[in-house]
Amino acid sequence: MEEKTEHVKCLIIGSGPAGYTAAIYAARADMKPVMYQGLQPGGQLTITTEVENFPGYPKGTMGPEMMEDFKAQAERFGTDIRWGLATSVDFTGPMHKVVIDEKTTITADSVIIATGASAKWLGLESEQKLNGFGVSACAVCDGFFFKGQDVAIVGAGDTAAEEATYLAKLCRKVYMIVRRDEMRASKSMQHRVKNTANIEVLYNSTTKEILGDKTVEGALIVNDKGEERTLTITGFFVAIGHHPNTDIFKGWLDMDETGYLSTVPGTSKTNIPGVFASGDAQDKTYRQAVTAAGSGCMAALDAERYLADKGIH
Ligand code: NDP
Repeated sequence: MEEKTEHVKCLIIGSGPAGYTAAIYAARADMKPVMYQGLQPGGQLTITTEVENFPGYPKGTMGPEMMEDFKAQAERFGTDIRWGLATSVDFTGPMHKVVIDEKTTITADSVIIATGASAKWLGLESEQKLNGFGVSACAVCDGFFFKGQDVAIVGAGDTAAEEATYLAKLCRKVYMIVRRDEMRASKSMQHRVKNTANIEVLYNSTTKEILGDKTVEGALIVNDKGEERTLTITGFFVAIGHHPNTDIFKGWLDMDETGYLSTVPGTSKTNIPGVFASGDAQDKTYRQAVTAAGSGCMAALDAERYLADKGIH
């Protein structure tokens, strides 16, 4: 049910470091960018605490504050920032169509995709049922609610290791559920986990069920020998990686088997002229705020050149 149509020169989908950086460059180049922020305005950095590795902040900064700064800078040059989620696209013609919230159609000369990535889940019914009632994919956001309590975290990458040590500072006990006999996390992160007295790592273990009716009361774990164990916990954290938010582009844009958008190496160009991809939606290797910002800049410059070549002013 499409209601309205509006034409823009440059449409930016997503509002993380990639989207805002694209907006800053596009606005300064007079491309009059319109940005739709998506489900999580500010992106993944809004659910982190301190950021210490973004250049220019020698004392570090807080993720949500940093994204407010990005936004203010994009607005300063005239970016039209709006609430709304891109729900479908039609890249058949030279004029690219993007539908927002299933009702508003935007036609755009150029589109910059900066839709980022989202947390993965185990896929258990109990996980879905108790999501927000003890089940969380963000220890930094929700750890505080479990102060002094016993919790579990699933995963064995750097995120899980980092979040386990974060939780260990707040909680009485942290079970770390690792599906293999070793962790994927960097040696230094593993070292921190192993040297934290109140973290117990359960190797070769998977979660059969998260227990509890209205809130989390436990987790049923099974190891590779088939032995079951019930953990008595009130919080269950999932830290098993992310997947790119690119579902709406399936069938239109080239992507790899895990959904990361393909770009011409060294550029932000997708297989559709005038459609550019930036940030975590196309980067499964680096996934850093600063690399996302850099690729957002590339996308805006590529879009600017594309419009100039087409004679669109
Ligand atoms: P990763 O993809 O690196 O790790 C995911 C982990 O989850 C793996 O250990 C994997 O197990 C496990 N896993 C996946 N699916 C399941 C499942 N269904 N059940 C149980 N376990 C599962 O994701 P991260 O989010 O940890 O990290 C992403 C990237 O960000 C990495 O490159 C990482 O280095 C980086 N990063 C860096 C940080 C830093 O430097 N401070 C902090 C956080 C992230 P298995 O190992 O068996 O595949």
